[in-house]
Amino acid sequence: MTEIGLRPSPISATVNFAAEGIQHGFLRLPYSRDDSAWGSVMVPITIVRNGKGPTALLTGGNHGDEYEGPIALFDLARSLKAEEVRGTVIIVPAMNYPAFQAGTRTSPIDRGNMNRSFPGRPDGTVTEKIADYFSRVLLPMADLVLDFHSGGKTLDFLPFCAAHILPNKQQQEKAFEFVTAFAAPYSMKMLEIDAVGMYDTAAEEMGKIFITTELGGGGTATAKSTAIAKRGTMDVLRHAGIVEGAVDPGPTTWLDMPDDRCFSFAEEGGLIEPVIDLGEAVTDDAVIARIYPIGRTGMAPREIRAGMNGILCARHFPGLVKAGDCVAVVAIVDG
Ligand SMILES: [Zn+2]
Repeated sequence: MTEIGLRPSPISATVNFAAEGIQHGFLRLPYSRDDSAWGSVMVPITIVRNGKGPTALLTGGNHGDEYEGPIALFDLARSLKAEEVRGTVIIVPAMNYPAFQAGTRTSPIDRGNMNRSFPGRPDGTVTEKIADYFSRVLLPMADLVLDFHSGGKTLDFLPFCAAHILPNKQQQEKAFEFVTAFAAPYSMKMLEIDAVGMYDTAAEEMGKIFITTELGGGGTATAKSTAIAKRGTMDVLRHAGIVEGAVDPGPTTWLDMPDDRCFSFAEEGGLIEPVIDLGEAVTDDAVIARIYPIGRTGMAPREIRAGMNGILCARHFPGLVKAGDCVAVVAIVDG
């Protein structure tokens, strides 16, 4: 067989996906290198299975410098009991484990951005091999996927749970029901800058219910953003019927990213002065930030303006920006 699609994954799981009860183990990917000739990348995984019922796949650390997901999922993996579950919960707190260990967005091994590597390749880079395992082994088992993101070191977000506008309206509607159950302070109809290669897209194309989050950023987590992640995860499991109990969704503000006018990019680098903060209202063409050239004094700053009316839902985090950086994202308040 020469077709790539039929080549088996080099990853072997130390857990048995068919077994009942709780198992903590690893996805072991052989990775030969200078400090370990026959070494492996060991991606932690927990599976909690109790009889018939839906399967939820919960993932964090798709990007290695985003922390609410890994915190909520390491906590859930140690605390969820098999008798609380009807069905299966698969927990991978740090998908791109090498990136997570390094505290970087992409993998230090191959610079791979997990969320641009799907569907992956069994004979590709380390990052592509992990993506391929998710595409061909984990995603097919799942009915529901919750993938945690935050802004990482370079962006900061209002805390929201999100789903995408999809061609299949039934699939879309179900996803938004789960976003409602997650009940972050904000809920987003999300537009991607470029959806090719994303885990989201791979799952959605398989017909899975896929929801995601952006819960903060700056390369850290807060008590508030972590609490949102933990409570949201349990309410998603309750809404799926996997964990017992009623969902009592808290108040949420619906936001919509209708088109590319949401995004403002820097055309020159420099020192950024925020003019408004996250959550504040803007009108079309209003100044969101100023970028000062840093080569010399006496220069006027370049103004970054909103492309539409709305509220600021994401911003560049570090104090210096480069040409091409996403400086701001504006979303419409829905209803
Ligand atoms: Zn991310």
